[in-house]
Amino acid sequence: MKYLSTRNSNLKITSAKAIASGLAPDGGLLVPEVLPSVTAEDISALCRMDYRGRAVSIMSRYLEDFSVEELREYCSKAYSSNYDTEHPAPLHILDDTTAYLELWHGPTCAFKDMALQMLPYLLTASLLKTGEEKKVCILVATSGDTGKAALEGFKDVDRTKIFVFYPVDGVSDIQKLQMITQEGENVGVCSVKGNFDDAQTGVKKIFGDKAFAEAIAEKGWFLSSANSINWGRLLPQIVYYFSAYCDMVNAGKITLGEKINFCVPTGNFGNILAGYYAKEMGLPVNRFICASNENNVLTDFFMSGKYDKNRAFHTTISPSMDILVSSNLERLLYKFCGDEKTKQYMTDLFGKGDYTIASDVATALREAFSAGCCDDAETKAEIKRVFDGYNYLIDTHTAVASKVLGDYRKETGDNTPAVVVSTASPFKFAADVLSALGTDNAGDPLTALSAASGVAVPRPLSNLESRTVRFTGCVNPTDMPSQVSGFIG
Ligand SMILES: *Cc1c(COP(=O)(O)O)cnc(C)c1O
Repeated sequence: MKYLSTRNSNLKITSAKAIASGLAPDGGLLVPEVLPSVTAEDISALCRMDYRGRAVSIMSRYLEDFSVEELREYCSKAYSSNYDTEHPAPLHILDDTTAYLELWHGPTCAFKDMALQMLPYLLTASLLKTGEEKKVCILVATSGDTGKAALEGFKDVDRTKIFVFYPVDGVSDIQKLQMITQEGENVGVCSVKGNFDDAQTGVKKIFGDKAFAEAIAEKGWFLSSANSINWGRLLPQIVYYFSAYCDMVNAGKITLGEKINFCVPTGNFGNILAGYYAKEMGLPVNRFICASNENNVLTDFFMSGKYDKNRAFHTTISPSMDILVSSNLERLLYKFCGDEKTKQYMTDLFGKGDYTIASDVATALREAFSAGCCDDAETKAEIKRVFDGYNYLIDTHTAVASKVLGDYRKETGDNTPAVVVSTASPFKFAADVLSALGTDNAGDPLTALSAASGVAVPRPLSNLESRTVRFTGCVNPTDMPSQVSGFIG
């Protein structure tokens, strides 16, 4: 199984090379040449496995240059006592047709852990397999959760350093505290004046800068990405769609082979794309519902076929979805339009800021995806509705998806059993969740939310205030390269 560029399908590289390099040399994203197929018998077998077994089974189909023994070892490390539940991705069944897939039981309380606890093993092994002698500096632009999850995954990992940029006004207080108090000898964190797209654009520029690459190569380093454009990030995410399906079967909510819907709170389009790949592999899925907050560029795209980033950027209470350029959409475009068109669309996007796909392609996309959005007030009302009605606490991102699923059901009458992908612990966004519940927020929001809900504060968040702040830098986007070269030393 080889990997191609979304902008040039003649490129063919191994999985280890794809993971080690992160991005294709032409700036495209790396995609598998085929999606391996999974039969009903395979899914039935997955139903009898634990999460680690499911992960080995799915991932091994994509990673020809890794042995099953290697993958077993990584999975047993990546999904074990670093999670606060026995099952790293448990389902919370709400009622007969709705369940929440809780992906936030890892060390940073957000779903990014599902991939970023795994990526360091895949990446360091890929470096050895490709004979890479240089050490790798992971460079991350984050809207909040990726940064912390990547720092946690890579801290003190041999032969690596990690540097994270976050938008100065684009992350929650807790997210910020999590990052600026990060421990580890090989980590760096700095804020950027601007929003997430400014930070992401700055990082992409550094990746594209040949002179920069040569300068650090002389010192024995090269850059790689832990953003969801890296295949090693996306692959572990395919696993939990299979796992959720199996758990729905095991819970008796569906029978094997019956189709379900997934509703996914979406930003960079990595999570939902992993689900789509699972469906293309053979997972019985009827529809993916792409949920956005007020930054609804994807909703418009799925409705109209026009992707248009020329619009106001909104700072919302679901900051990890405050995104105008959803990088992983490029992989979906490749699947539907091929490399030449994808390349043209990306040129248009970075030139004039928009592109429009052919109307028959747009129609085909709507066969697999629905899309919807809601604003902060609706998000808060949904948190309250679910808590009051079911005594179940959800975070602001999950609430966007939960609300959009409800709207979708009302509009379409499609009551297919659905899984809402739950992407963060409500405690990570405690102040907004509290305000949604209508509870006064005097004092520490974590303690107050715990008191109001009767749910304990997750361990990784409970001692944040007492940790030492290590990183206070804030730079203009133009100064990002010098930050990184200073950090590499
Ligand atoms: C990153 C993130 C998202 C968006 O996921 P994408 O893969 O970027 O679409 C949604 N919710 C939370 C809590 C996140 O951290």
